[in-house]
Amino acid sequence: METDVGGRADWLPRRLLVTRSSMGFEHGRSIVARAEARGVEVVPLSGDRLALDLPDDPRRAYAIAKSTLALVVASPSKRRLQPIAPSADWRVDLAEGCPAHCSYCYLAGSLKGPPITRVYANLDEILAGLPPYLGAGGVTSKDRHRMHEGTTFEASCYTDPLVLEPITGSLSAVIAWFGQWEAPAQLRFTSKFANVAPLLDIAHHGRTRMRASINPAMFARFEGGTAPVAARLAGLRRMALAGYPVGLTIAPIIAATGWREAYGRLLADAAAALAEVPDLDLTIELITHRFTAGSKAVLDSWYPGSSLDMGLSGRTTKRTKFGSEKQVYDAATMRDLRGFFAERIASALPLARVLYWT
Ligand code: SF4
Repeated sequence: METDVGGRADWLPRRLLVTRSSMGFEHGRSIVARAEARGVEVVPLSGDRLALDLPDDPRRAYAIAKSTLALVVASPSKRRLQPIAPSADWRVDLAEGCPAHCSYCYLAGSLKGPPITRVYANLDEILAGLPPYLGAGGVTSKDRHRMHEGTTFEASCYTDPLVLEPITGSLSAVIAWFGQWEAPAQLRFTSKFANVAPLLDIAHHGRTRMRASINPAMFARFEGGTAPVAARLAGLRRMALAGYPVGLTIAPIIAATGWREAYGRLLADAAAALAEVPDLDLTIELITHRFTAGSKAVLDSWYPGSSLDMGLSGRTTKRTKFGSEKQVYDAATMRDLRGFFAERIASALPLARVLYWT
């Protein structure tokens, strides 16, 4: 069995539910073959409806859903790309859902229903839909500091594509596809996992940027089922040595007691992990912790014992352009955090480009 650089075995689902239509696609059939080769129980469904059959007990229902993978076909509406500020011009989904157990996971507010992971069988159709979006981006393409990245496509909005890679092969296929796409375009993904071995030898031609999503060790208890941060950084180093542009997604930044020391150490660890990489192309994205009433309700039900602070003290309400409200840190806390990161990044990682703070 393959392992990540931290020695952890790859994640495998307990069962793979296979919708009927998904078997009409070569990529779908290859996912089934991979699952069977790894001893995963494959459950063919007679149609395309996912019959989940979950128990009433919410704890057990959560556990069963999180260990279930479903092979489905992305509908035309799912294949219509949406802008995804501030990360990228467009969001491209290879899957929806993630098997890890992070007590601040943003998916809790975005995806409805039981937290199973759906992977898409019609990857060729998804990729065939991308060229019309070239040059039509309004996020990074409109930003004079980022225009040189070309039209950007973000693959980790609704999933962590790296954790699914051993069972799907989707991420490798998409990196290879971007590698042969002779166009000013870039695929982007971020991950809390570390097994990059399947990606190292792909002819990526610099058109994919991997970022490691990292947080200090003191918050590891909020990131159940993910790879240790040191392993994520070691994986990122291997990607950089394989010629990929790389990045750090520091997220979510949590202003808990001791945050200065913790984030200072994290930046020092990142600098050590990326030391002496020739021609290092490194970006940093900084995302502070936020939540909505909806995501908090879902997360409270999934992780009732979590000590993650989602109280209203030290918070302020921010209205999104879609009219919904989210709780972000108040102005004084934001100022402290932002000033700290600007100063520490300048000293620990002076060659890094900070893409955004939010
Ligand atoms: S790894 Fe990312 S997508 Fe997966 S549960 Fe954690 S925060 Fe959510």
